[in-house]
Amino acid sequence: MFETLPTLVPDPILGLVAECKRDNNPNKIDLSVGVYKDESNHTPVMAAVREAQIRYLESETSKVYQPPGGTENFIGKVNELIFGESHPALKDNRIATVQATGGCASLHLAAKLIMRANPDAKVWLSDPSWPNHFPLLSSTGINIELYPYYDSESHSVSFDKMVSTLENAGAGDLVLIHASCHNPCGADLTKEQWRILTELAQKNGFVPFIDMAYQGFGLSLDDDAYGIRYMSEHLPEVVVCNSFSKNFGLYRERAGSLSVVVSDAQQTPTVMNQALNVARGIYSMPPAHGAALVETVLSNPDLRDMWHSEVNAMRERIVAMRSALADGIAALGCDRDFSFIKQQFGMFSFLGLTETQVDRLKTDYSVYIIKSSRISVAGINPGNLPYLCRAVSEVVK
Ligand code: PMP
Repeated sequence: MFETLPTLVPDPILGLVAECKRDNNPNKIDLSVGVYKDESNHTPVMAAVREAQIRYLESETSKVYQPPGGTENFIGKVNELIFGESHPALKDNRIATVQATGGCASLHLAAKLIMRANPDAKVWLSDPSWPNHFPLLSSTGINIELYPYYDSESHSVSFDKMVSTLENAGAGDLVLIHASCHNPCGADLTKEQWRILTELAQKNGFVPFIDMAYQGFGLSLDDDAYGIRYMSEHLPEVVVCNSFSKNFGLYRERAGSLSVVVSDAQQTPTVMNQALNVARGIYSMPPAHGAALVETVLSNPDLRDMWHSEVNAMRERIVAMRSALADGIAALGCDRDFSFIKQQFGMFSFLGLTETQVDRLKTDYSVYIIKSSRISVAGINPGNLPYLCRAVSEVVK
């Protein structure tokens, strides 16, 4: 049976990572993969998470299944982190949150749940968006449309075009918006723009579908959730997919959540029940470990403070590397202005290079970035920065 299966083209990012590993150039730099790295190019277990793990292991007495939607305490803490402690929808019990096995599972669960509610639903995705949004959502049969998002001339959000396209999104449609730290372009919505989109949703009836994979990496834990909190306060329904892979460094543990804000508290248990029934048909029960670490950190004030300062330090490092890259290239007298990198948020930016220039970075300098010229800023550190600045300014000459 299986000999009929064709071999698929390898994932371009994984291919680049492997190529970089084989490269013997001591100056090689890998800016392809979207994971946080510290100054020594390492993705560490965060100190608060390490400590939570010790405490959790000491207190764990059983490996029996946990509640399928996550423990009550986990859900409570996650709701507070995403929506803020005193959010009206939370007070009104209008948020159905369930644990999900990472942001990816959350997105897939959301799409399946949406399809149960409305088999004709359509999701509008930003152009560009994170490439994995397509298979995660479209594999459920949901229709996908694109809205313009990034203007490569101004290196910022093409908000007018976005709004005029989304005038066509109406009831039965969902608009997927990146909460902060847009992947791949790093250009985020302003608070004013979130408010304008909220008015548009009020007017036309589409439901925001917000993906938050980088809370705390943009402006702050609270500011990065601004759009979620504002829309959930002013609209009857909002879908929120959340990942703890980046801000807790829990990548392989698969921890995240799905929240659906509903208009009436009576719908909350039904939506939870339906979401869990969807999960039952895919993986049945979520893994406990990653969620337990998040719960332990968020439930203990000492660990929570430690985690806050670690997230802040990660963000500050990213911001510092953004500035250092833009300023470092400028200091070499480069004609091309890269100052936009300083105005963007999170781990990603497009350098705006041609495919030939991206290729030259790799072949002439062993600097590995993906074809679209998206860089993962977390791969930059004071050690490789001067070499990187020189390489970029040479290829754009
Ligand atoms: N959404 C976006 C925009 C992402 O960049 C990612 C991670 N790369 C995710 C969701 C999900 O990540 P995970 O499944 O690892 O939690």
